[in-house]
Amino acid sequence: METALDLGRLLLHYQPVVGIDNGPVGMEALIRMDHPERGLLSPAAFASDLDAPRLARRIGCFVLDTALTQTQTWHRQGLALRIAVNISACHLMDQHFLSDLQAALAAHPDLPPSSIEIEVTETAPLLDFDKAGETLLACNRMGVLIALDDFGTGNSSLTYLQKLPAQTIKIDQSFVRDILNDSRDIAIVTGVIKTAHMLGIEVVAEGVKTQRHAELLRKMGCTFLQGYWIARPMPAAQIPGWIAGFQPTLSGAFR
Ligand code: C2E
Ligand code: MG
Ligand code: MG
Repeated sequence: METALDLGRLLLHYQPVVGIDNGPVGMEALIRMDHPERGLLSPAAFASDLDAPRLARRIGCFVLDTALTQTQTWHRQGLALRIAVNISACHLMDQHFLSDLQAALAAHPDLPPSSIEIEVTETAPLLDFDKAGETLLACNRMGVLIALDDFGTGNSSLTYLQKLPAQTIKIDQSFVRDILNDSRDIAIVTGVIKTAHMLGIEVVAEGVKTQRHAELLRKMGCTFLQGYWIARPMPAAQIPGWIAGFQPTLSGAFR
């Protein structure tokens, strides 16, 4: 990973997030490594590096800078997309995190902070909730939005919801996958959607695989969707073309 950082072999792909009624609203930046022998690697191949104390901050800064530069380019092209960036627990809890975020914002002055969303995953436990909550509140004060990623997979989902300021919950794909035939998952997902909406929090369903999933999620009141049925993660250059082709092909399909 250190070599990849030094040699510029890390890159980002982007996966669309769509609003059921208004089409593409944003992109999630997803890291990839261009390995000289093994080709393009997904995070599963280097997951432990992402949250390693020696690397997390360097990776986080690379991702913030690359994603904001790309999003600023899209904004200049008239594509006012929101960008969601995954930040490791290790970088979030680093004393430099807020100044790193501030520096990334300052380097992209044309980008409204409200078009940036920091995704905090539940799979890596935040040991100090109070400190994490303060840091995330400071992000909100800068105008940056917070999303709780992989919601439901950690040991303390309700504590996350109670203690951390968040504008979005992303329901983990492990709950979304089986909603068509598992009444427990229907109950859980419905409950999360209702709870979030009572708190004024937006909900994104992750891992939407088929049109039937999308239709059921719509009935359940989930307004934002992400998943392979909508689009797989893709290089930035493909996004404008994908957006141009989206409306005629898919918007009717949600109804
Ligand atoms: P995540 O943040 O929950 O991202 C969603 C993952 O689910 C992505 O995998 C995406 O490709 C995959 N996915 C989306 N829709 C579907 C679907 O319909 N079916 C299936 N089976 N999968 C779907 P990816 O890109 O391999 O990333 C895996 C995880 O690695 C991410 O999960 C995130 O936790 C982490 N990650 C990715 N990029 C970064 C990064 O820049 N920084 C950090 N710290 N972590 C990252
Ligand atoms: Mg994510
Ligand atoms: Mg997730």
